[in-house]
Amino acid sequence: MTRHDVVIVGTGHGGAQAGIALRQQGFEGSILMIGRDRVPPYERPPLSKEYLAGEKPLERLLIRPETFWADKNIELMLGQTVTKVDPMAHEVELGSGERIGYGRLIWSAGGDARRMSCPGGHLDGVHAVRDIRDVDRMLEDLAAGAQHFVVIGGGYIGLEAAAVLRKLGRKVTLIEAMDRVLNRVAGEDLSAFYEAEHRRQGVDLRLGIGVERLTGEDRVTGVVLTDGEEIACDAVVVGIGIVPAVGPLIAAGAAGANGVDVSETCHTSLEHVYAVGDCAAHPNVWANGAVIRLESVQNAHDMATTVAKSICGEAQPYAAFPWFWSNQYDLRLQTAGLNIGYDEAVLRGDPAERSFSVIYLKDGRVIAVDAVNRTKDYVQGRKLVEARVEVDPADLADVDKPLKDFR
Ligand code: FAD
Repeated sequence: MTRHDVVIVGTGHGGAQAGIALRQQGFEGSILMIGRDRVPPYERPPLSKEYLAGEKPLERLLIRPETFWADKNIELMLGQTVTKVDPMAHEVELGSGERIGYGRLIWSAGGDARRMSCPGGHLDGVHAVRDIRDVDRMLEDLAAGAQHFVVIGGGYIGLEAAAVLRKLGRKVTLIEAMDRVLNRVAGEDLSAFYEAEHRRQGVDLRLGIGVERLTGEDRVTGVVLTDGEEIACDAVVVGIGIVPAVGPLIAAGAAGANGVDVSETCHTSLEHVYAVGDCAAHPNVWANGAVIRLESVQNAHDMATTVAKSICGEAQPYAAFPWFWSNQYDLRLQTAGLNIGYDEAVLRGDPAERSFSVIYLKDGRVIAVDAVNRTKDYVQGRKLVEARVEVDPADLADVDKPLKDFR
């Protein structure tokens, strides 16, 4: 059995950054990264954007060049799944039965794409958009001439995939169970804008309706909605969220319900076991200390850095500023802060001009900004969020008043 000073589970954004940051902090012990993916650490955001569009090949997705990991003396074990954690023995077990000892364990396993639980959810041609294999299968369908895609889920990933598929000239029907897209993450103005935009681009958008079942023999040929309508299609893209990949940790006794619970220094309830990224439920200062999971590159990256510092004796509470982006068509959305619990949303600019912002307030203070094709508002608005500035909403709505004037 081998033993490593640090074992990192997951080779995504959090896992890769944990290894990088440990070495940057001067950590000299042995590091092993174990990942289910067969490809060295790569960026996920392009999967629903440039990679699906065929504009960015795999080599340009890699977080670091392939030789980087060996150069930094970080061992990569790819194509392997950790199935068990033994916190008493300080060991993990792989699917193969092999056991590996750890001094510290960093769990950065992200989440598994939520599957359709209805009949037909397992059929060929039903695609998740979580890892590179998922998108490679979609690309195979595209190359084989699939024309009509039904996208299930109007969150960022579903909308981004729909935008690319339209750009590729495919017919797209998008089904969203709630009465607006981006319901979980954005205010109504932003939802309404993206709905109009996707319709303008030719997406057949269906809101407030569910999926009863998927039809087909081996391969999907249609989607039956809850009102009985059947939409014939060549392929289905499912973007309905993730299930945090924390099974082995929870089975080992780690506390957690929605993901695994971590302290402000990203420590789980198990000794010498940390968790970062999509799977880590943490108290977030930008959400008034509420325990939340964030699904963003920024969060995975910065939590990983927090853990690396902590392992190197520089423990600091996780307090990184949250930001996010999404690209659809020629629209670049940039988000600063978290709008959780907002009580007012101010529209700044005219959505018809395809350049505007939505500024979220709570108790009169700015807590988040969504800026569409308006980088200046993002940059300046971010400062308002950081300072929790109190501003008159009428001033925020006035595009002739730069946001920087309110600091
Ligand atoms: P991941 O990057 O998902 O990495 C987890 C890794 O762990 C995976 O490689 C997985 O295979 C592996 N794994 C899981 N279980 C095990 C196990 N038991 N044993 C071994 N390995 C395991 N964020 C943004 O900020 N902006 C965007 O525009 C954006 N777009 C996105 C588009 C897509 C298509 C996707 C899927 C995500 C997007 N995100 C975006 C979210 C962002 O990519 C995630 O928040 C980020 O990848 C989280 O990092 P992570 O390390 O927690 O998990």
